[in-house]
Amino acid sequence: MASQGQRLFFALWPEAPVSEALVALQQRHAQSPARPSHPLDLHLTLAFLGAVAPQHLPCLLEMAAAIRTPPFVLELSRIGSWRKPNILWAGPAATPAPLLELVNALNHGLRGCGLTPEDRAYRPHVTLARKGAALERQTLEGFPRWPVTEFVLASSGGASSANRYRVLKKWSLDS
Ligand code: ATP
Ligand code: MG
Repeated sequence: MASQGQRLFFALWPEAPVSEALVALQQRHAQSPARPSHPLDLHLTLAFLGAVAPQHLPCLLEMAAAIRTPPFVLELSRIGSWRKPNILWAGPAATPAPLLELVNALNHGLRGCGLTPEDRAYRPHVTLARKGAALERQTLEGFPRWPVTEFVLASSGGASSANRYRVLKKWSLDS
């Protein structure tokens, strides 16, 4: 198992008012056995890398900096739950083309750096809570639009504070 190195992923990290609306959504759907994500941990994963050996980092940083896909607006218009993994999520009704372009560019870049991207179908979502009861998929009314102008590289595990992820670096989609 390639367990050497930090566990990394590329993601979109919301700022207010989207992050605040996500926290309000968590509160509205709070249930006692469920474990809500820490407010600072709320994110939408673009590409999961797993454990990355340190020698891969320069290539990853260079390929991320070279990405030239356009900024876009994400509309989180759905809430629902999955059984496996057991999570409560918020997500868009469909994957916007520029989001898929960004994900594809990252996965292409990962291969170029000698890493193997996830081959499961991409399902954009923000994990609101884990281990709760099932929730039938619903439309979210009036959720703020999320203007996506940057993406980040984050690490998981190893954060010493109450939240579990750490944003390592950000890149702009504005150029
Ligand atoms: P743990 O797995 O220890 O419970 P976690 O799921 O919070 O913790 P990671 O597994 O490191 O942390 O995942 C980091 C991010 O990458 C999360 O958004 C997670 O949903 C996503 N992710 C994890 N594994 C995969 C995978 N195989 N494919 C796609 N995304 C993944
Ligand atoms: Mg996990």
